[in-house]
Amino acid sequence: MGKKLLLVNPGNEDKLNAASVGLFFTFPPPGLAYLAALTPSDWDIRIIDENVEPMTFEDADLVGLTAMTSNAHRAYQISGQYRQRGIKTVMGGIHASFLPDEAIRFVDSVVLGEAESVWKGLLRDFENNRLQSFYRGERVSLENLPRPRNDLYSHRYRIPASVQTSRGCPMDCEFCSVTAFNGRTYRQRPVGEVLDEIEGLERRELFFSDDNILSYGKKAEERAIQLFRGMVDRGLNKHWVSQVGIDFGNNPEVLRWAKKSGCLGVFIGFESSSEESLQHMQKARNLRFGVSRFKETVKRIHSYGIGVHGAFICGSDGDKKDVFQRTTQFILDAQIDSATITILTPLPGTRLYDKMKSEGRLLRTNYPQDWNCYDTTQAVFMPKHMTPDELEEGVYQIYQDLTSRATSLRRAWNSFIQTKNPAVAVIAYSLNRGLNSFVARKYEWVMKERSSGVEHRQVLHPAEDIEKCLVK
Ligand code: SF4
Repeated sequence: MGKKLLLVNPGNEDKLNAASVGLFFTFPPPGLAYLAALTPSDWDIRIIDENVEPMTFEDADLVGLTAMTSNAHRAYQISGQYRQRGIKTVMGGIHASFLPDEAIRFVDSVVLGEAESVWKGLLRDFENNRLQSFYRGERVSLENLPRPRNDLYSHRYRIPASVQTSRGCPMDCEFCSVTAFNGRTYRQRPVGEVLDEIEGLERRELFFSDDNILSYGKKAEERAIQLFRGMVDRGLNKHWVSQVGIDFGNNPEVLRWAKKSGCLGVFIGFESSSEESLQHMQKARNLRFGVSRFKETVKRIHSYGIGVHGAFICGSDGDKKDVFQRTTQFILDAQIDSATITILTPLPGTRLYDKMKSEGRLLRTNYPQDWNCYDTTQAVFMPKHMTPDELEEGVYQIYQDLTSRATSLRRAWNSFIQTKNPAVAVIAYSLNRGLNSFVARKYEWVMKERSSGVEHRQVLHPAEDIEKCLVK
């Protein structure tokens, strides 16, 4: 019998996640599926995503963990339980890549960067009993990628498959760790290979898990058309959603082929309806596009029967106390079907983190436990124009105003009128109600924490340790 590899995507410690409230938007994360595909066939592989299923702590010879910042502490807890049993653990992902010296205190081996280039060597080292503490993965070429083992994921996702067509983003927003992790590179897979992968999928729904499936400029538009048109020509008959840049609505040909290939909706990072706030976040592309054109672009996307899920961030130094009312009004006026409103979060590795640290504005620095709070629903820094409590309460209020049952129904009806697509209306209603329930539970949790007497509103000095851990 072969060795047993357990790959784990840890959940958040508060156990609140998209799946727990039945949100439409759950899909298998691609990273572990690619590592499983690169694992030699004599290994017995199991993947657990704690966001949709319980962690069972089953037996294994080697445990591989991936984590963003908000679930890093949970990854360390899981690792600790396995290490107590004498089972080796290895951790990769964005958090461990930026803080390898923190991670190595809790796991046996850390992979920095993309793990694919070192994975087979790491497994060989493990089998030969010479697992190293650190492996530095290179950015891999996206040509001839193996077929990701999505079949190893549980079937509890609302969207059962994710397909990656590119990695990275050519932009460089101050708060974003995508560019910090990938460099300012945008790598694309050959369209034919992507189409082959989609052709092999059994189910109809899929998520393109790119950070931005449509990059910027003429060439990017031509590639997107080639991909969408290829889906039509091959008769793939899919329903898909993806993250796109603000320029998605610019080119009627892109929209036409997106719709024909089965696009139900796109996720757009508007981030703010205020130019001043966009400037503070260094959201260059949206500034160049122009806030005054945001509404017309939503309207154009709608006219092709495609829904728009908007992402907004509150708490930048450009945001005063009117940001909550302004954001709510903008979402309603622009007739955006559903929206995620997050609190600006300084993630390690980003310029925003460096800035907040140097200005002594970080509030949650009891690392690694406090990484739990870096989940974009809590204020972990001192905002410029309001208190942290006001920031949290303001964001929760936006959700209350936008996602009550009556408002969700009205908005879903409006989605139908705008898009003439009943599926968009149904998804918008389900997303808005799911967000309502998620936020209510989250708020309850935050309130409980506040009343538990744990002082978390005090500006603490950044822990000395973190200085040494941060990779520059
Ligand atoms: S455009 Fe999006 S993915 Fe690209 S750097 Fe900005 S926030 Fe990150």
